[in-house]
Amino acid sequence: MEHKVNLNEISDGKLYTKNDMVKLGCDGCAGKSSCCRFAEDTITLDPYDMYLLNTGEGLSFDLLYSRELIALAPVKGLLLPHLNFSKETGTCPFLETDGLCRIHGNRPGLCRLFPLARYFAEDKLYYILQIHECPNPVTPKVKIKNWLGIPNLEQYEAFLKSWHTLVSVVQEKITAATDNQTINTVTTVFLKLFYLTPYGKEDEFYPQFKERQKAFLNTCNNS
Ligand code: SF4
Ligand code: SF4
Repeated sequence: MEHKVNLNEISDGKLYTKNDMVKLGCDGCAGKSSCCRFAEDTITLDPYDMYLLNTGEGLSFDLLYSRELIALAPVKGLLLPHLNFSKETGTCPFLETDGLCRIHGNRPGLCRLFPLARYFAEDKLYYILQIHECPNPVTPKVKIKNWLGIPNLEQYEAFLKSWHTLVSVVQEKITAATDNQTINTVTTVFLKLFYLTPYGKEDEFYPQFKERQKAFLNTCNNS
């Protein structure tokens, strides 16, 4: 979620943090799972999502891409993978006919958030409650950290802030680049390091990400 939005138009206008209680709930739209339909190319994957798909589902980038479960699209000039919703039916490729998610335990971060969204301001990460997105809101109060269900949430949030900053810097670099070679190098190395190279099961995600981030910055500084 980018900064330049009118919070009062899309949300209840409040900025939440992980320990806040928010009116959240989900009845699965009585088996229809509306949020798993018609999201088009908006469920972008980050490296933590790829780690879960690699290690939890045994799905490498190559498998996901060749089976058309994910696709690539430019986001402010930078190619990023996203869930490949069907053009014909509008459904997520992981949505089962009974309305359940086939990768529920390893679903992407943006799926876990919904109908919350992330809001980055300076070096802080907040959550906002989108008020026009879920057609069937049920409203018990739930603590955000429980809603997300992500272990080591502090570490995860630190990763998200770092990732958000990195993506913004790379998007700026690509937009400002005047030669195709720089764009190609940055794009290729970015995809290879953060998505195409499978993450290992034996190590936690965070040290693997840091190592790749360091390698990427070294390449960028020399290109
Ligand atoms: S649209 Fe709302 S109620 Fe329906 S499945 Fe998604 S979060 Fe649950
Ligand atoms: S990955 Fe699962 S939760 Fe996310 S949109 Fe697809 S079916 Fe829904």
